[in-house]
Amino acid sequence: MAALKRINQDDLRNHNLSVVLSQILRSANPLSRAELAKSTGLTKATMSLLVSLLIDHRVVKEGVPLVQAVYGRPSTPLIINEGRVCGIGMQINTDGYGYVVLDLDGSTIAERWVAADLHDAHADEIFGDLDAMLLEQEKILHEQDYVIAGSGLALPGLVTDDRHLIVARNLGWENIDLMKFPLVQRLDVVAGNESNMAAIAHLPGYASQAKGEGMVGPDGSFIYISTDIGIGGAIVRDGKVVIGNNGFAGELGHLSVQMDGPLCHCGRHGCLEAYAGRRSMVENSGIAMGDDATSQEALEAFAKGVADGDPVMREVYENAFDAMVSTIVSVVNLTDVSTVIIGGCWSRMTAGEIERMRMRVQQEILSRDKVDIKIMCTRDMRRPALIGAALVGLRRFVDNPLHYLEQQ
Ligand SMILES: [Zn+2]
Repeated sequence: MAALKRINQDDLRNHNLSVVLSQILRSANPLSRAELAKSTGLTKATMSLLVSLLIDHRVVKEGVPLVQAVYGRPSTPLIINEGRVCGIGMQINTDGYGYVVLDLDGSTIAERWVAADLHDAHADEIFGDLDAMLLEQEKILHEQDYVIAGSGLALPGLVTDDRHLIVARNLGWENIDLMKFPLVQRLDVVAGNESNMAAIAHLPGYASQAKGEGMVGPDGSFIYISTDIGIGGAIVRDGKVVIGNNGFAGELGHLSVQMDGPLCHCGRHGCLEAYAGRRSMVENSGIAMGDDATSQEALEAFAKGVADGDPVMREVYENAFDAMVSTIVSVVNLTDVSTVIIGGCWSRMTAGEIERMRMRVQQEILSRDKVDIKIMCTRDMRRPALIGAALVGLRRFVDNPLHYLEQQ
């Protein structure tokens, strides 16, 4: 006989609290109890109880009441209380490692980044150093009476759900059980691919207070392209990152744009990354090779050459541009998602170049008569993957608020 599952009162309350919190976070304008009741479908009485619980635990506070133009009581906007709940984001990338601490209200509490060339760096050393940095930071957060909801770690490679790093080629790391690091165990870190984390940073209200007009809405669908030495990507549909069966989806840097193209380090020929990756463009221009080709100076020399009209560098750039267009067209055709957000070195494109790319993609997609392509570049977020990792940590609180509140 199938067991009847009783709905536990606490489960229901936890679920409702999560819905209310989500609704507050996703709205760029503060909502009142009545507005929250209306948008969540919960009764005013239930809403009143839930909001009281959030206020008692200092997660939410009341703003200045607004006197409405029409009849009725003044409505009191509810605001996320800063200084209460935070999430820790960490990132290890080819150009360094560090962390950020985000408040539930969306503000940055602390940030530290160690700039370093991490090619063939020892994982034990990097994780050890990050651990020491964070122990100091956690002490401060506890003194400030913060609740650390959780933490995320963005890595430039394939990471499984059970915290196994399969490979991060540009770091030279392979087959690492992340659980062996005390840092990962202590903070119960959620590890993931940097592009997936960066995509999350573009979803307003995912786990912190939404502010102003975002590039997309909280339930937006878009293709995120992360461009650095490696090129990665993420597909976001209706506000959710499509991670695939193992967490590996969205690796658009290894879509081949030419079957007899140059050999990519992944073993295939003609991958996007072999044309448009930062190191590939520098090497293909003959500016530098190997490790020297990954420096910021090498990239600046390439950018200057392109701007000055150097014929070799212009050709390398145009080939890379074509590869970007070809890949975006394929992904749009495959997913029927028509908004593209580009982060990393290609986000430096001028408005004119973005428009040229958009027009090329628009002309080439199958649905060109029906669908309008949008291409945007992430400029105001310095390290979106780091922010996304912190949001993944904060999301634990939003998904399961009662668990944290009961610990208080
Ligand atoms: Zn490849």
